[in-house]
Amino acid sequence: MNTRKSRIGIALALIAAMLAATAIYVHAKQAQGNPASVAEKENAADTIAPAVEAFPMQVATNGRPDYMNNVEYTDSTHSRVKIAVDSSAVDLSKAGEYPVVFYAENEAGNVAQAKTSIEVIDPKEKIIYLTFDDGPSPNTPHILKILRDNGVKATFFVTAQWPKSLPYMTQAARDGNVVAAHSYSHNFKIYSSLDAYFADLERIEQEIEKYTGQRTRIVRFPGGSSNHVYRRYHPGNRQWIDTLKAALLKRGYQYVDWSLDSKDADGNHVPVTTLVSSACHTYHPQMCLLMHDVAAKKTTVEALPAIIKYFKAQGYKFGTIKSTDYVCHHGEHGMWPN
Ligand SMILES: [Zn+2]
Repeated sequence: MNTRKSRIGIALALIAAMLAATAIYVHAKQAQGNPASVAEKENAADTIAPAVEAFPMQVATNGRPDYMNNVEYTDSTHSRVKIAVDSSAVDLSKAGEYPVVFYAENEAGNVAQAKTSIEVIDPKEKIIYLTFDDGPSPNTPHILKILRDNGVKATFFVTAQWPKSLPYMTQAARDGNVVAAHSYSHNFKIYSSLDAYFADLERIEQEIEKYTGQRTRIVRFPGGSSNHVYRRYHPGNRQWIDTLKAALLKRGYQYVDWSLDSKDADGNHVPVTTLVSSACHTYHPQMCLLMHDVAAKKTTVEALPAIIKYFKAQGYKFGTIKSTDYVCHHGEHGMWPN
């Protein structure tokens, strides 16, 4: 799917929405396939509904959800597509998770629907987002078991560093965890150019899709968005990472940093007590905790039950990062801590 084109489509949708509050008509993206097959389809009666895909959303209580930013569609015959949103089940005044349905109708009257959800979050609600970078690894099954045993979920920012462990993504997703993108190679050469970065991202996207059935729109940069490693490839251009961030957002992705660090990146044998004391803080109601799913980091697995126990005792619920609306950016101030 060509995300950039769909972003243009979304921009047109928003302009159309301003002109007509209820009906939103936009030109569908150019159909995939060769010109001959497209022409044939145009001459025949159009009986094919548009393809529509909807993505989970997140909004603060009494906030304004950006529904149109969370739907993508294509139509096989270039037909204009009308997008409608049924958000009647959503109560923006009350924290909770609500169903949302998008309807896409083309000019021939064929309708497709896509269901998703919106999470309404009270900014005072206590939520801990457990995140694991660099896996899947031989440790993943142990992490998944601890999560299941404790009835909590996490977000995995995955790589392809342990090819034999890639299938663990399937179980992670099946358990209700979020599988998001970190890097295929985890080689900092990905920061040598935008092309290098996006080629690597596409490779890990393909693995995620292969094992979970879905691509992701959630990314964590190797080293985080505040890393300085990129400077070795762009001497004299300290803003290059901003160019990358902007390009990523423009493609419909969101990048996620962390607000709490377990410090398990300091070494492979950081003592459990150090990890637990680094991870366990409650200075903000909503926090994103960085941990690693790496074969050699066995103490992270050993520390996990105590970390979960701590946040449970403090009244936190365990969230997953499934929406591009979730903002946790190093160096910026948003609804969530930085
Ligand atoms: Zn990493």
